[in-house]
Amino acid sequence: MRPRERVEAVLNFTQPDRIPVISPFQGFWAIVASGLKVTEAFAVPSKAAESQIRMLEMAPFDGLEVFWDWLTPAEACGCKVVFPEEGNPATMDTAIKSLSEVDKLEVPDIRRHARSMDDLNLATHLNKRLCMDRFTYITLVLPFTLAGELRGVEKMMLDILKKPAELHPLIEYSQKVLEEYLKFANDTGVDGIFWCDPVASAGLISPKQFRSFTMPYEKSLLQKTREADLKALLHICGNTSDRLDAILEISPDLMSLDCAVDLTKAMKALYGRVPIMGNVSTTDLFLGKPDDIRAASKSCMKSAGMRGFALGAACDIPIGSPIENVKALCNSVLEKDT
Ligand SMILES: [Zn+2]
Repeated sequence: MRPRERVEAVLNFTQPDRIPVISPFQGFWAIVASGLKVTEAFAVPSKAAESQIRMLEMAPFDGLEVFWDWLTPAEACGCKVVFPEEGNPATMDTAIKSLSEVDKLEVPDIRRHARSMDDLNLATHLNKRLCMDRFTYITLVLPFTLAGELRGVEKMMLDILKKPAELHPLIEYSQKVLEEYLKFANDTGVDGIFWCDPVASAGLISPKQFRSFTMPYEKSLLQKTREADLKALLHICGNTSDRLDAILEISPDLMSLDCAVDLTKAMKALYGRVPIMGNVSTTDLFLGKPDDIRAASKSCMKSAGMRGFALGAACDIPIGSPIENVKALCNSVLEKDT
């Protein structure tokens, strides 16, 4: 089987020739691991593209992201974002200072936001190079997380408690912005969108708050992704064990689980309905040894079995993770006793 067919088998719950391995988020790691600075990668997108190809030769993922700049919508909406030389971009100043300013926010014209267009052109270029063989996707945040960037996550957490009704218009605005990105994503030719909601985990909101502030927006955007003939993949950081029933209702084409989630229990809850990906610890990828990664990968594969499962890191592969560890993740699926 070719790598992309292997990933498609997982999404369809058919038997692949072996378990596929998907990064799921390797973009920034690959830039730095290839010897490039993050700032250089943004200044010269062709260098960023080459960094991904070079690292893919060493760490041959079956599926990978070709658009990793998930905070670009926040900048397009007016946030001030900084770019460290060897780190992920970070929002330094929010787009709004109070919820009363939401009415003044306009959905940005993406064509006039240079960084977004560079990212999309890069995704198109990488997809052309890789799509015959690999399963490719764009990584974007979901409305609740984008709202957190525009407002500030701590302030948004207080809004949930103090002004819940006033918070929804900000999330609705974020949804409209992301629907625009979805339209452009469709033109890049990728197979899917990896929608991420790092702010929607049990560490920050309760299952009840998840159902109110996150779930309806996730559900709608994932549905629109499928209507655009793209696969709708979902990642939520942290522990999602207490909201697997809601994830079943959202019904993504693939659910990427963080390492705080027990894979055996998640497989039991979602099997046959939602394919699962996970969940080798990113701390181990950063700090551990190749043997640790092999053992963790083997344990994941043993818990999950051959159908409806892809091996992958539990979240972003951290910048600075040794290549030997990432290679060990990729090679684990080739070992005979798995
Ligand atoms: Zn995560």
